[in-house]
Amino acid sequence: MTRVLTTVAEVRDALAGRSIAFVPTMGALHEGHLSLARIARDHADEVVVSIFVNPTQFGAGEDFDAYPRTLDTDLELLEAAGVEWVFAPAAAEVYPERFPSDGEAGVEGRVEHVTAGPLGAQFEGAARPNHFDGMLTVVLRLFDIVRPQVAVFGQKDAQQLALVRAMVAERNLPIDIIAAPISRESDGLARSSRNRYLTAAQRASAPAIFQALTAASHSLTEGNTARAAIEAGRRRIQAEPELELEYLELVDDTTFEASESGNLLITVVRAGATRLLDNLPVANGIDEFLR
Ligand code: AMP
Repeated sequence: MTRVLTTVAEVRDALAGRSIAFVPTMGALHEGHLSLARIARDHADEVVVSIFVNPTQFGAGEDFDAYPRTLDTDLELLEAAGVEWVFAPAAAEVYPERFPSDGEAGVEGRVEHVTAGPLGAQFEGAARPNHFDGMLTVVLRLFDIVRPQVAVFGQKDAQQLALVRAMVAERNLPIDIIAAPISRESDGLARSSRNRYLTAAQRASAPAIFQALTAASHSLTEGNTARAAIEAGRRRIQAEPELELEYLELVDDTTFEASESGNLLITVVRAGATRLLDNLPVANGIDEFLR
């Protein structure tokens, strides 16, 4: 039976002293999120999935208001997946204006505003100013509320994963960060809550994104230069009239510096207004997906 907690006080009451594996999400759940919950299951007594569309990680003009909110379906999926706990707070619980230290009854805890620094400045950080500051701020706040021993993040958002790992290391937080492989549709498209925005024509073109990454990866393993491999990947996207390439690069997966000896191919492709992210570790990514 999945139980829904909505306040910090409820989380403290229900989960104090328990061993917790935590999966933060923004809801609109799909198989990718459920795969994270299944990994979490192997790491603690209780699995907590949070559902919170975090306003501070959306920029002006982004899709915060339009972001899909499907709580009833999300809860059914989590129930079927055997998740014990859902934390689905209102924004005022996560970002309280009053704290007990003011001498008034209020929401427990303190919100520390985190800045992402150079690791968060490029790629998604450049495309979405303040996005990673907002993401790290809410992740740290959720960690402080839920107090997990383990947290599971998707490899899909590789730069986010690198930033969370860096934050945990810098602060010496006693939390193991586990990366979950990218969950894909059968044609290779990475699952995303935003895939539902795609028109039929855009959806039909979207598998080209994974094909572009695999083309670049194959080119590298055949011994071509990074530049040639990246060009091969970019051409695959540019051949699709429904898609517009934002970037396709080879980077180091911990620094997110572009590098000819990088170990991660990353891309963002736009289909209309929808930004689709994907990435592939070089050498083993395709084998991992096909296995
Ligand atoms: P979101 O709700 O989109 O912010 O995602 C919540 C978590 O699910 C993040 O750690 C994402 O990286 C992860 N995630 C989203 N899509 C996928 C996917 N297709 N495969 C694996 N993890 C995913």
